[in-house]
Amino acid sequence: MNQTVQETLLGAIRTIPDYPKPGILFRDITTLLGDARAFRRAVDELVHPYAGTRVEKIAGIEARGFILGGAIAHQLSAGFVPIRKKGKLPHDTVRIAYSLEYGVDEMEMHRDGVRPGEKVILVDDLIATGGTAEAATKLLQQMGAEVVAACFVIDLPDLGGRSKIEALGVPVRTLIAFAGH
Ligand code: AMP
Repeated sequence: MNQTVQETLLGAIRTIPDYPKPGILFRDITTLLGDARAFRRAVDELVHPYAGTRVEKIAGIEARGFILGGAIAHQLSAGFVPIRKKGKLPHDTVRIAYSLEYGVDEMEMHRDGVRPGEKVILVDDLIATGGTAEAATKLLQQMGAEVVAACFVIDLPDLGGRSKIEALGVPVRTLIAFAGH
């Protein structure tokens, strides 16, 4: 029987309990990335609504967003822009602070990574509280990019991340969801 995309993806993601700390169910996509069919299906399904539309750049969030984002950029004939933890990018950067569960962190992109008016899709593997993607979206918007969508393989809907991104005027696309953290 043919598996649906959701069945393929669910079957390819490994869940690690209590990683990186007690109570967290870590959704490990390395098993999905290592499965040629699941990786292709995830990328195909994420790009599907945007095929044939004009998208100049894919912005990927370090580190798993780089892997998915690179494949998506290739598929859509778009450029790729890395959004990284602070201090990793070599040229002139713009930076934004964002809250983590304990404390704050900062992320950066190159100042010339996007041009005003460019259409950009933001990519990461998973959206939980949405804090990371919200900061990345704000950074791109501050640089004048038009963020046309934010795409994730996995949604943790109980944590409410989607509405943070939608509040910035950006549609969110996710492929599968897991209850809880
Ligand atoms: P958040 O800012 O809360 O939406 O967290 C999203 C970021 O943390 C993404 O880059 C995810 O890869 C990572 N992350 C958060 N929760 C999990 C989880 N349960 N399993 C795997 N990665 C996670």
